[in-house]
Amino acid sequence: MVTWPSRRGRPAGTGPEGGDRWGHAVVIGAGFTGLLAARVLADRFARVTLLERDRLAPGTTHRSGLPQGRHPHGLLARGAAVVEELFPGIRAELAGRGAPVFDFGAGFATRLPHGWAPRAAIGVEVQSFDLTALESALCDRVRAEPAIRIRDGFLVEAVELSTDRSRAVAVTGRDRDDPGHAPVRIDADLIVDAAGRASRLPGWLAAAGLPRPERHRVASPLVYSSRMYELPRDAAPGWLVSFEMTFPPLVHRGGAAVTVDRGHRLVSVIAPASQLPPPRAEAALREFAGTLDNPHFAHVMEHGRPVTPVYRCPVGGNQWIRYDRLRLFPDRLLVLGDAFCAFNPVYGQGLTVAALQAQRLGLLLRRAAGPAGVARRFQRRAAGIVRVPWLIATAADQGWSPTGPDPAVSCVRAFLGLVLRRAPGDPVLYARFALVQNMLTSPLGLLRPSLLWRLLRPRTPVAPDPGESGPG
Ligand SMILES: Cc1cc2nc3c(=O)[nH]c(=O)nc-3n(C[C@H](O)[C@H](O)[C@H](O)COP(=O)(O)OP(=O)(O)OC[C@H]3O[C@@H](n4cnc5c(N)ncnc54)[C@H](O)[C@@H]3O)c2cc1C
Repeated sequence: MVTWPSRRGRPAGTGPEGGDRWGHAVVIGAGFTGLLAARVLADRFARVTLLERDRLAPGTTHRSGLPQGRHPHGLLARGAAVVEELFPGIRAELAGRGAPVFDFGAGFATRLPHGWAPRAAIGVEVQSFDLTALESALCDRVRAEPAIRIRDGFLVEAVELSTDRSRAVAVTGRDRDDPGHAPVRIDADLIVDAAGRASRLPGWLAAAGLPRPERHRVASPLVYSSRMYELPRDAAPGWLVSFEMTFPPLVHRGGAAVTVDRGHRLVSVIAPASQLPPPRAEAALREFAGTLDNPHFAHVMEHGRPVTPVYRCPVGGNQWIRYDRLRLFPDRLLVLGDAFCAFNPVYGQGLTVAALQAQRLGLLLRRAAGPAGVARRFQRRAAGIVRVPWLIATAADQGWSPTGPDPAVSCVRAFLGLVLRRAPGDPVLYARFALVQNMLTSPLGLLRPSLLWRLLRPRTPVAPDPGESGPG
Protein backbone atom coordinates (compact mmCIF):
# COMPACT_ATOMS: atom_id res chain seq x y z
CA MET A 1 0.00 0.00 0.00
CA VAL A 2 1.25 3.50 -0.82
CA THR A 3 1.47 5.63 2.30
CA TRP A 4 0.61 9.32 2.08
CA PRO A 5 1.58 11.57 4.98
CA SER A 6 -1.08 14.13 5.82
CA ARG A 7 -0.74 17.93 5.99
CA ARG A 8 -0.12 17.85 9.71
CA GLY A 9 2.19 14.85 9.51
CA ARG A 10 -0.35 12.25 10.66
CA PRO A 11 0.59 8.72 9.67
CA ALA A 12 -1.19 7.67 6.48
CA GLY A 13 -4.27 5.58 6.99
CA THR A 14 -5.29 7.51 10.08
CA GLY A 15 -8.15 9.98 9.75
CA PRO A 16 -8.55 13.20 11.69
CA GLU A 17 -10.58 11.43 14.33
CA GLY A 18 -8.54 8.25 14.29
CA GLY A 19 -10.56 6.52 11.51
CA ASP A 20 -9.03 5.12 8.37
CA ARG A 21 -8.38 7.42 5.48
CA TRP A 22 -10.75 6.84 2.63
CA GLY A 23 -8.78 6.26 -0.51
CA HIS A 24 -8.84 8.62 -3.48
CA ALA A 25 -10.81 11.83 -4.13
CA VAL A 26 -10.76 13.59 -7.49
CA VAL A 27 -11.56 17.28 -8.01
CA ILE A 28 -12.38 18.63 -11.49
CA GLY A 29 -11.08 22.19 -11.84
CA ALA A 30 -8.34 24.04 -9.95
CA GLY A 31 -10.09 27.40 -9.71
CA PHE A 32 -10.85 29.03 -6.35
CA THR A 33 -13.49 26.39 -5.48
CA GLY A 34 -11.43 23.39 -6.56
CA LEU A 35 -8.44 24.59 -4.52
CA LEU A 36 -10.55 24.98 -1.37
CA ALA A 37 -12.28 21.63 -1.95
CA ALA A 38 -8.92 19.87 -2.35
CA ARG A 39 -7.76 21.42 0.93
CA VAL A 40 -10.68 19.99 2.93
CA LEU A 41 -10.63 16.62 1.16
CA ALA A 42 -6.96 16.19 2.06
CA ASP A 43 -7.96 16.00 5.74
CA ARG A 44 -10.01 12.87 5.06
CA PHE A 45 -8.69 11.14 1.97
CA ALA A 46 -5.34 9.42 1.60
CA ARG A 47 -4.96 10.89 -1.88
CA VAL A 48 -6.55 13.86 -3.62
CA THR A 49 -6.04 14.53 -7.34
CA LEU A 50 -6.87 17.98 -8.65
CA LEU A 51 -7.45 17.92 -12.43
CA GLU A 52 -7.15 21.18 -14.35
CA ARG A 53 -7.41 21.63 -18.11
CA ASP A 54 -5.10 24.68 -18.13
CA ARG A 55 -1.38 24.57 -17.51
CA LEU A 56 -0.73 26.12 -14.08
CA ALA A 57 2.52 28.02 -14.40
CA PRO A 58 4.23 28.99 -11.13
CA GLY A 59 3.74 32.57 -9.94
CA THR A 60 0.89 34.93 -10.73
CA THR A 61 0.15 34.08 -14.35
CA HIS A 62 -3.13 34.68 -16.12
CA ARG A 63 -4.66 31.67 -17.86
CA SER A 64 -7.51 31.14 -20.28
CA GLY A 65 -9.64 29.10 -17.83
CA LEU A 66 -9.78 32.09 -15.49
CA PRO A 67 -11.05 34.96 -17.67
CA GLN A 68 -12.51 36.68 -14.59
CA GLY A 69 -8.93 37.01 -13.24
CA ARG A 70 -8.58 40.18 -15.34
CA HIS A 71 -11.43 41.89 -13.45
CA PRO A 72 -11.86 43.38 -9.98
CA HIS A 73 -12.86 40.95 -7.23
CA GLY A 74 -13.93 41.51 -3.66
CA LEU A 75 -14.03 38.72 -1.09
CA LEU A 76 -16.71 39.40 1.52
CA ALA A 77 -15.58 39.39 5.15
CA ARG A 78 -17.30 36.04 5.84
CA GLY A 79 -15.60 34.39 2.88
CA ALA A 80 -12.22 35.84 3.86
CA ALA A 81 -12.60 34.35 7.34
CA VAL A 82 -13.26 30.90 5.86
CA VAL A 83 -10.27 31.14 3.51
CA GLU A 84 -8.10 32.12 6.48
CA GLU A 85 -9.46 29.19 8.49
CA LEU A 86 -8.62 26.74 5.68
CA PHE A 87 -5.26 28.34 4.83
CA PRO A 88 -3.95 29.90 8.05
CA GLY A 89 -1.75 32.94 7.45
CA ILE A 90 -2.93 33.56 3.86
CA ARG A 91 -4.17 37.07 4.66
CA ALA A 92 -0.78 38.07 6.08
CA GLU A 93 0.96 36.41 3.14
CA LEU A 94 -1.07 38.46 0.64
CA ALA A 95 -0.63 41.59 2.75
CA GLY A 96 3.12 40.96 2.56
CA ARG A 97 2.77 41.14 -1.22
CA GLY A 98 1.01 44.49 -0.98
CA ALA A 99 -2.71 43.56 -0.78
CA PRO A 100 -4.15 46.04 1.75
CA VAL A 101 -6.22 45.03 4.80
CA PHE A 102 -8.67 47.71 5.93
CA ASP A 103 -11.99 48.48 7.52
CA PHE A 104 -14.88 48.01 5.08
CA GLY A 105 -16.72 51.17 6.16
CA ALA A 106 -13.62 53.36 6.02
CA GLY A 107 -11.84 51.98 2.96
CA PHE A 108 -14.80 51.47 0.59
CA ALA A 109 -16.17 54.48 -1.28
CA THR A 110 -19.57 53.23 -2.37
CA ARG A 111 -21.95 55.12 -4.59
CA LEU A 112 -25.42 53.74 -3.91
CA PRO A 113 -28.37 54.46 -6.23
CA HIS A 114 -29.44 57.49 -4.16
CA GLY A 115 -26.12 58.88 -2.92
CA TRP A 116 -22.80 58.01 -1.28
CA ALA A 117 -22.67 55.44 1.51
CA PRO A 118 -21.44 56.95 4.79
CA ARG A 119 -17.67 56.60 5.25
CA ALA A 120 -16.79 55.50 8.78
CA ALA A 121 -15.17 52.45 10.34
CA ILE A 122 -17.68 49.68 11.12
CA GLY A 123 -15.33 47.12 12.65
CA VAL A 124 -15.34 44.73 9.66
CA GLU A 125 -11.90 43.99 8.20
CA VAL A 126 -11.57 43.13 4.53
CA GLN A 127 -8.69 42.79 2.09
CA SER A 128 -8.47 43.82 -1.53
CA PHE A 129 -6.36 41.76 -3.95
CA ASP A 130 -5.97 40.52 -7.47
CA LEU A 131 -7.88 37.23 -7.96
CA THR A 132 -5.04 35.66 -9.95
CA ALA A 133 -2.61 36.47 -7.13
CA LEU A 134 -4.98 34.99 -4.54
CA GLU A 135 -5.47 31.80 -6.55
CA SER A 136 -1.76 31.42 -7.18
CA ALA A 137 -1.05 31.77 -3.42
CA LEU A 138 -3.74 29.15 -2.68
CA CYS A 139 -2.35 26.90 -5.40
CA ASP A 140 1.16 27.07 -3.87
CA ARG A 141 -0.32 26.02 -0.51
CA VAL A 142 -2.29 23.15 -2.07
CA ARG A 143 0.72 22.02 -4.09
CA ALA A 144 2.73 21.78 -0.86
CA GLU A 145 0.25 19.31 0.68
CA PRO A 146 1.73 15.83 0.39
CA ALA A 147 -1.69 14.18 -0.03
CA ILE A 148 -2.62 16.38 -3.01
CA ARG A 149 -1.42 15.96 -6.56
CA ILE A 150 -2.25 18.60 -9.14
CA ARG A 151 -2.48 17.20 -12.65
CA ASP A 152 -2.67 20.24 -14.91
CA GLY A 153 -3.14 20.26 -18.68
CA PHE A 154 -5.72 17.49 -18.15
CA LEU A 155 -9.18 17.88 -19.67
CA VAL A 156 -11.90 15.80 -17.99
CA GLU A 157 -14.31 14.52 -20.62
CA ALA A 158 -16.71 12.34 -18.66
CA VAL A 159 -17.67 10.98 -15.28
CA GLU A 160 -18.06 7.22 -15.29
CA LEU A 161 -20.87 5.63 -13.25
CA SER A 162 -21.26 2.12 -11.83
CA THR A 163 -23.29 -0.24 -14.05
CA ASP A 164 -26.43 0.36 -11.96
CA ARG A 165 -25.72 4.14 -12.17
CA SER A 166 -26.04 4.42 -8.41
CA ARG A 167 -22.56 5.91 -7.89
CA ALA A 168 -19.72 7.66 -9.65
CA VAL A 169 -16.59 5.53 -9.94
CA ALA A 170 -14.10 7.32 -12.19
CA VAL A 171 -13.42 10.23 -14.48
CA THR A 172 -12.01 9.94 -17.96
CA GLY A 173 -10.08 12.58 -19.85
CA ARG A 174 -6.96 13.41 -21.81
CA ASP A 175 -3.55 14.84 -21.08
CA ARG A 176 -3.17 17.78 -23.40
CA ASP A 177 0.59 17.20 -23.71
CA ASP A 178 0.21 13.58 -24.77
CA PRO A 179 0.68 13.67 -28.55
CA GLY A 180 -1.74 10.78 -29.10
CA HIS A 181 -4.26 12.26 -26.61
CA ALA A 182 -4.95 8.73 -25.41
CA PRO A 183 -7.95 8.64 -23.05
CA VAL A 184 -7.03 8.17 -19.40
CA ARG A 185 -9.30 6.70 -16.73
CA ILE A 186 -8.86 7.75 -13.10
CA ASP A 187 -10.68 5.73 -10.42
CA ALA A 188 -12.07 7.66 -7.48
CA ASP A 189 -13.92 7.08 -4.22
CA LEU A 190 -15.38 10.60 -4.39
CA ILE A 191 -15.59 13.01 -7.34
CA VAL A 192 -16.06 16.75 -6.88
CA ASP A 193 -17.12 18.89 -9.83
CA ALA A 194 -15.62 22.37 -9.35
CA ALA A 195 -15.40 23.15 -13.08
CA GLY A 196 -17.23 26.48 -12.76
CA ARG A 197 -19.66 27.70 -15.38
CA ALA A 198 -17.83 25.45 -17.88
CA SER A 199 -19.02 22.31 -16.06
CA ARG A 200 -20.43 19.71 -18.46
CA LEU A 201 -21.95 17.52 -15.79
CA PRO A 202 -25.62 18.00 -16.82
CA GLY A 203 -24.78 16.63 -20.29
CA TRP A 204 -22.74 13.74 -18.87
CA LEU A 205 -25.67 12.75 -16.62
CA ALA A 206 -28.07 12.90 -19.56
CA ALA A 207 -25.67 10.79 -21.67
CA ALA A 208 -25.75 8.16 -18.90
CA GLY A 209 -29.55 8.07 -19.12
CA LEU A 210 -30.14 10.05 -15.91
CA PRO A 211 -32.41 13.09 -15.73
CA ARG A 212 -30.90 16.48 -16.45
CA PRO A 213 -31.14 18.82 -13.46
CA GLU A 214 -33.39 21.87 -13.79
CA ARG A 215 -31.49 25.06 -14.58
CA HIS A 216 -32.81 28.25 -12.93
CA ARG A 217 -31.61 31.36 -14.71
CA VAL A 218 -32.04 35.08 -14.15
CA ALA A 219 -30.22 36.98 -16.88
CA SER A 220 -28.18 40.15 -16.64
CA PRO A 221 -26.94 42.03 -19.71
CA LEU A 222 -23.94 43.51 -17.85
CA VAL A 223 -20.40 43.37 -19.17
CA TYR A 224 -17.20 44.33 -17.31
CA SER A 225 -14.59 46.34 -19.17
CA SER A 226 -11.42 46.37 -17.06
CA ARG A 227 -7.85 47.54 -17.08
CA MET A 228 -4.96 47.66 -14.59
CA TYR A 229 -3.32 51.06 -13.95
CA GLU A 230 -0.20 52.13 -12.14
CA LEU A 231 -1.02 55.24 -10.16
CA PRO A 232 1.67 57.73 -9.09
CA ARG A 233 1.84 58.39 -5.35
CA ASP A 234 0.74 62.00 -5.69
CA ALA A 235 -2.48 60.86 -7.43
CA ALA A 236 -3.28 58.18 -4.81
CA PRO A 237 -6.92 58.57 -3.79
CA GLY A 238 -8.33 58.30 -0.27
CA TRP A 239 -10.13 55.01 -0.94
CA LEU A 240 -8.92 51.46 -1.31
CA VAL A 241 -11.98 50.13 -3.13
CA SER A 242 -14.47 52.28 -4.98
CA PHE A 243 -17.76 51.01 -6.26
CA GLU A 244 -20.84 52.19 -8.05
CA MET A 245 -23.74 49.85 -7.65
CA THR A 246 -26.12 48.94 -10.45
CA PHE A 247 -29.76 48.51 -9.47
CA PRO A 248 -31.98 47.95 -12.49
CA PRO A 249 -34.15 49.50 -13.76
CA LEU A 250 -33.01 52.59 -11.79
CA VAL A 251 -29.23 52.34 -12.31
CA HIS A 252 -27.98 50.55 -15.44
CA ARG A 253 -24.29 51.36 -15.25
CA GLY A 254 -21.67 51.18 -12.55
CA GLY A 255 -18.06 50.36 -11.88
CA ALA A 256 -15.47 49.04 -9.47
CA ALA A 257 -11.89 50.00 -8.70
CA VAL A 258 -9.73 47.87 -6.45
CA THR A 259 -6.32 48.53 -4.95
CA VAL A 260 -4.39 45.34 -5.63
CA ASP A 261 -1.12 46.67 -4.20
CA ARG A 262 0.26 50.05 -3.27
CA GLY A 263 0.92 51.12 -6.85
CA HIS A 264 -1.82 49.39 -8.83
CA ARG A 265 -5.56 49.87 -9.24
CA LEU A 266 -7.71 47.48 -11.25
CA VAL A 267 -10.58 49.51 -12.69
CA SER A 268 -13.75 48.35 -14.36
CA VAL A 269 -16.74 50.06 -15.87
CA ILE A 270 -19.83 47.88 -15.91
CA ALA A 271 -22.79 48.33 -18.26
CA PRO A 272 -24.95 46.50 -20.80
CA ALA A 273 -22.77 45.54 -23.79
CA SER A 274 -24.74 47.84 -26.10
CA GLN A 275 -23.70 50.88 -24.03
CA LEU A 276 -19.98 50.12 -23.55
CA PRO A 277 -17.43 51.56 -25.98
CA PRO A 278 -15.22 48.87 -27.62
CA PRO A 279 -12.04 47.94 -25.67
CA ARG A 280 -9.67 49.70 -28.09
CA ALA A 281 -11.55 53.02 -27.93
CA GLU A 282 -9.60 54.24 -24.90
CA ALA A 283 -10.71 57.87 -25.05
CA ALA A 284 -14.35 56.80 -25.39
CA LEU A 285 -13.97 54.48 -22.40
CA ARG A 286 -12.54 57.32 -20.28
CA GLU A 287 -15.34 59.55 -21.44
CA PHE A 288 -17.87 56.86 -20.54
CA ALA A 289 -16.34 56.54 -17.04
CA GLY A 290 -16.67 60.31 -16.71
CA THR A 291 -20.44 60.06 -17.14
CA LEU A 292 -20.87 57.78 -14.10
CA ASP A 293 -21.98 59.23 -10.75
CA ASN A 294 -18.78 57.89 -9.15
CA PRO A 295 -15.84 59.93 -10.49
CA HIS A 296 -13.12 57.64 -9.10
CA PHE A 297 -12.86 55.40 -12.16
CA ALA A 298 -12.30 58.35 -14.47
CA HIS A 299 -9.75 59.75 -11.95
CA VAL A 300 -7.60 56.61 -12.15
CA MET A 301 -7.92 56.45 -15.94
CA GLU A 302 -6.83 60.05 -16.23
CA HIS A 303 -3.89 59.97 -13.80
CA GLY A 304 -2.77 56.33 -14.08
CA ARG A 305 -0.50 54.60 -16.57
CA PRO A 306 -2.26 51.59 -18.14
CA VAL A 307 -0.25 48.41 -17.64
CA THR A 308 -2.58 45.96 -19.40
CA PRO A 309 -4.92 46.11 -22.38
CA VAL A 310 -8.67 46.53 -21.73
CA TYR A 311 -10.37 43.17 -21.09
CA ARG A 312 -14.09 42.56 -21.42
CA CYS A 313 -16.12 39.87 -19.72
CA PRO A 314 -19.89 39.31 -19.68
CA VAL A 315 -21.19 38.61 -16.18
CA GLY A 316 -23.10 35.58 -17.43
CA GLY A 317 -26.18 36.15 -15.29
CA ASN A 318 -27.33 34.06 -12.35
CA GLN A 319 -27.57 30.30 -12.81
CA TRP A 320 -28.48 27.62 -10.25
CA ILE A 321 -28.35 24.03 -11.46
CA ARG A 322 -30.67 22.17 -9.15
CA TYR A 323 -28.64 19.02 -8.38
CA ASP A 324 -30.09 19.35 -4.89
CA ARG A 325 -33.54 18.54 -6.31
CA LEU A 326 -32.62 15.44 -8.31
CA ARG A 327 -34.03 12.24 -6.88
CA LEU A 328 -31.85 10.11 -9.12
CA PHE A 329 -28.35 11.38 -8.57
CA PRO A 330 -25.32 9.12 -8.31
CA ASP A 331 -23.64 8.86 -4.93
CA ARG A 332 -19.94 9.80 -4.52
CA LEU A 333 -20.40 12.80 -6.84
CA LEU A 334 -20.90 16.35 -5.68
CA VAL A 335 -20.91 19.79 -7.23
CA LEU A 336 -19.90 23.12 -5.76
CA GLY A 337 -18.90 26.68 -6.59
CA ASP A 338 -19.99 28.21 -9.90
CA ALA A 339 -20.65 24.72 -11.30
CA PHE A 340 -23.56 24.51 -8.86
CA CYS A 341 -24.67 28.11 -8.56
CA ALA A 342 -23.14 31.17 -10.23
CA PHE A 343 -24.19 34.74 -9.50
CA ASN A 344 -24.09 38.06 -11.25
CA PRO A 345 -20.73 39.17 -9.78
CA VAL A 346 -21.68 42.78 -9.10
CA TYR A 347 -23.06 41.56 -5.76
CA GLY A 348 -19.65 40.03 -4.86
CA GLN A 349 -21.04 36.74 -3.56
CA GLY A 350 -19.51 33.93 -5.70
CA LEU A 351 -16.22 33.42 -3.87
CA THR A 352 -17.81 33.60 -0.42
CA VAL A 353 -20.57 31.14 -1.29
CA ALA A 354 -17.96 28.74 -2.71
CA ALA A 355 -15.83 29.11 0.44
CA LEU A 356 -18.83 28.39 2.68
CA GLN A 357 -19.61 25.29 0.62
CA ALA A 358 -16.03 24.02 0.94
CA GLN A 359 -16.13 24.65 4.69
CA ARG A 360 -19.43 22.74 4.96
CA LEU A 361 -17.99 19.87 2.94
CA GLY A 362 -15.08 19.68 5.39
CA LEU A 363 -17.53 19.54 8.30
CA LEU A 364 -19.59 16.75 6.71
CA LEU A 365 -16.47 14.75 5.91
CA ARG A 366 -15.26 15.05 9.49
CA ARG A 367 -18.57 13.72 10.81
CA ALA A 368 -19.03 10.91 8.27
CA ALA A 369 -17.89 7.33 8.74
CA GLY A 370 -17.07 6.98 5.05
CA PRO A 371 -17.61 8.67 1.68
CA ALA A 372 -20.92 6.88 1.00
CA GLY A 373 -23.92 9.20 1.35
CA VAL A 374 -21.86 12.39 1.85
CA ALA A 375 -22.73 13.71 -1.62
CA ARG A 376 -26.50 13.89 -1.14
CA ARG A 377 -26.14 15.41 2.35
CA PHE A 378 -23.69 17.94 0.97
CA GLN A 379 -25.84 18.96 -2.00
CA ARG A 380 -28.77 19.72 0.30
CA ARG A 381 -26.58 21.80 2.63
CA ALA A 382 -25.03 23.61 -0.35
CA ALA A 383 -28.53 24.58 -1.51
CA GLY A 384 -29.16 26.04 1.95
CA ILE A 385 -26.00 28.18 1.63
CA VAL A 386 -27.05 29.41 -1.81
CA ARG A 387 -30.66 30.32 -1.00
CA VAL A 388 -30.31 33.83 0.51
CA PRO A 389 -27.54 35.10 -1.81
CA TRP A 390 -29.60 33.79 -4.74
CA LEU A 391 -32.68 35.63 -3.54
CA ILE A 392 -30.77 38.90 -3.16
CA ALA A 393 -29.02 38.72 -6.55
CA THR A 394 -32.03 37.57 -8.52
CA ALA A 395 -34.48 39.94 -6.84
CA ALA A 396 -32.21 42.80 -7.90
CA ASP A 397 -31.59 41.41 -11.40
CA GLN A 398 -35.25 40.83 -12.14
CA GLY A 399 -35.22 44.59 -12.62
CA TRP A 400 -33.63 43.86 -16.02
CA SER A 401 -36.64 41.85 -17.14
CA PRO A 402 -38.78 43.72 -19.70
CA THR A 403 -41.89 42.27 -18.04
CA GLY A 404 -40.74 43.40 -14.57
CA PRO A 405 -40.03 41.30 -11.50
CA ASP A 406 -42.10 38.30 -10.39
CA PRO A 407 -44.69 39.27 -7.77
CA ALA A 408 -42.93 36.76 -5.46
CA VAL A 409 -39.77 38.89 -5.30
CA SER A 410 -41.43 42.30 -5.48
CA CYS A 411 -41.49 42.74 -1.71
CA VAL A 412 -37.79 41.74 -1.43
CA ARG A 413 -36.99 44.34 -4.11
CA ALA A 414 -39.13 46.97 -2.42
CA PHE A 415 -37.39 46.36 0.92
CA LEU A 416 -33.93 46.40 -0.68
CA GLY A 417 -34.88 49.59 -2.51
CA LEU A 418 -35.92 51.23 0.76
CA VAL A 419 -32.65 50.26 2.48
CA LEU A 420 -30.64 51.62 -0.46
CA ARG A 421 -32.65 54.87 -0.44
CA ARG A 422 -32.17 55.44 3.29
CA ALA A 423 -28.58 54.16 3.76
CA PRO A 424 -26.77 57.26 2.39
CA GLY A 425 -28.15 59.47 5.17
CA ASP A 426 -27.98 56.93 7.98
CA PRO A 427 -24.60 55.56 9.15
CA VAL A 428 -26.25 53.17 11.64
CA LEU A 429 -28.48 51.64 8.98
CA TYR A 430 -25.60 51.46 6.51
CA ALA A 431 -23.37 49.72 9.06
CA ARG A 432 -26.07 47.05 9.59
CA PHE A 433 -26.53 46.71 5.83
CA ALA A 434 -22.76 46.32 5.40
CA LEU A 435 -22.84 43.35 7.80
CA VAL A 436 -25.53 41.75 5.62
CA GLN A 437 -23.56 42.56 2.45
CA ASN A 438 -20.53 40.83 3.96
CA MET A 439 -22.70 37.82 4.90
CA LEU A 440 -21.84 38.32 8.56
CA THR A 441 -25.49 38.59 9.57
CA SER A 442 -28.77 37.45 8.06
CA PRO A 443 -30.86 39.98 6.10
CA LEU A 444 -33.60 39.24 8.64
CA GLY A 445 -31.50 41.31 11.06
CA LEU A 446 -32.62 44.38 9.08
CA LEU A 447 -36.18 43.69 10.21
CA ARG A 448 -35.37 44.50 13.85
CA PRO A 449 -37.77 47.15 15.18
CA SER A 450 -34.98 49.69 15.81
CA LEU A 451 -33.91 49.45 12.14
CA LEU A 452 -37.45 49.33 10.78
CA TRP A 453 -38.06 52.60 12.55
CA ARG A 454 -35.00 54.07 10.81
CA LEU A 455 -36.37 52.91 7.47
CA LEU A 456 -39.88 54.19 7.98
CA ARG A 457 -39.38 57.44 9.90
CA PRO A 458 -39.65 60.74 8.02
CA ARG A 459 -36.63 61.16 5.82
CA THR A 460 -33.49 62.82 7.23
CA PRO A 461 -31.63 65.02 4.76
CA VAL A 462 -28.92 63.13 2.82
CA ALA A 463 -25.40 64.51 3.07
CA PRO A 464 -24.52 66.28 -0.18
CA ASP A 465 -22.04 64.60 -2.50
CA PRO A 466 -18.61 65.55 -1.23
CA GLY A 467 -17.43 67.32 -4.31
CA GLU A 468 -15.95 66.53 -7.66
CA SER A 469 -14.01 63.38 -6.69
CA GLY A 470 -16.50 61.90 -4.24
CA PRO A 471 -15.55 60.98 -0.69
CA GLY A 472 -11.80 60.94 -1.05
C1 LIG B 1 -16.11 39.82 -14.19
C2 LIG B 1 -16.30 39.04 -12.92
C3 LIG B 1 -16.14 39.65 -11.69
C4 LIG B 1 -16.36 38.94 -10.51
N1 LIG B 1 -16.25 39.56 -9.30
C5 LIG B 1 -16.49 38.87 -8.16
C6 LIG B 1 -16.37 39.50 -6.89
O1 LIG B 1 -16.09 40.69 -6.78
N2 LIG B 1 -16.59 38.74 -5.77
C7 LIG B 1 -16.92 37.41 -5.86
O2 LIG B 1 -17.12 36.77 -4.82
N3 LIG B 1 -17.05 36.80 -7.05
C8 LIG B 1 -16.84 37.48 -8.19
N4 LIG B 1 -16.95 36.86 -9.39
C9 LIG B 1 -17.33 35.43 -9.40
C10 LIG B 1 -16.11 34.55 -9.10
O3 LIG B 1 -15.09 34.86 -10.01
C11 LIG B 1 -16.52 33.10 -9.25
O4 LIG B 1 -17.62 32.84 -8.39
C12 LIG B 1 -15.39 32.15 -8.85
O5 LIG B 1 -14.17 32.51 -9.44
C13 LIG B 1 -15.79 30.75 -9.28
O6 LIG B 1 -14.76 29.86 -9.00
P1 LIG B 1 -14.89 28.34 -9.44
O7 LIG B 1 -13.62 27.71 -9.01
O8 LIG B 1 -16.18 27.77 -8.96
O9 LIG B 1 -14.98 28.36 -11.02
P2 LIG B 1 -13.85 28.80 -12.08
O10 LIG B 1 -13.05 29.94 -11.60
O11 LIG B 1 -14.55 28.92 -13.38
O12 LIG B 1 -12.86 27.55 -12.11
C14 LIG B 1 -13.18 26.35 -12.78
C15 LIG B 1 -11.88 25.68 -13.18
O13 LIG B 1 -12.21 24.42 -13.78
C16 LIG B 1 -11.41 24.23 -14.94
N5 LIG B 1 -12.16 23.32 -15.80
C17 LIG B 1 -13.37 23.53 -16.38
N6 LIG B 1 -13.76 22.44 -17.08
C18 LIG B 1 -12.79 21.50 -16.91
C19 LIG B 1 -12.62 20.19 -17.38
N7 LIG B 1 -13.55 19.59 -18.15
N8 LIG B 1 -11.49 19.50 -17.04
C20 LIG B 1 -10.55 20.10 -16.26
N9 LIG B 1 -10.65 21.36 -15.78
C21 LIG B 1 -11.76 22.05 -16.10
C22 LIG B 1 -11.27 25.64 -15.53
O14 LIG B 1 -10.15 25.73 -16.37
C23 LIG B 1 -11.11 26.47 -14.24
O15 LIG B 1 -9.75 26.56 -13.84
C24 LIG B 1 -16.72 37.55 -10.57
C25 LIG B 1 -16.88 36.93 -11.82
C26 LIG B 1 -16.68 37.67 -12.98
C27 LIG B 1 -16.87 36.98 -14.30
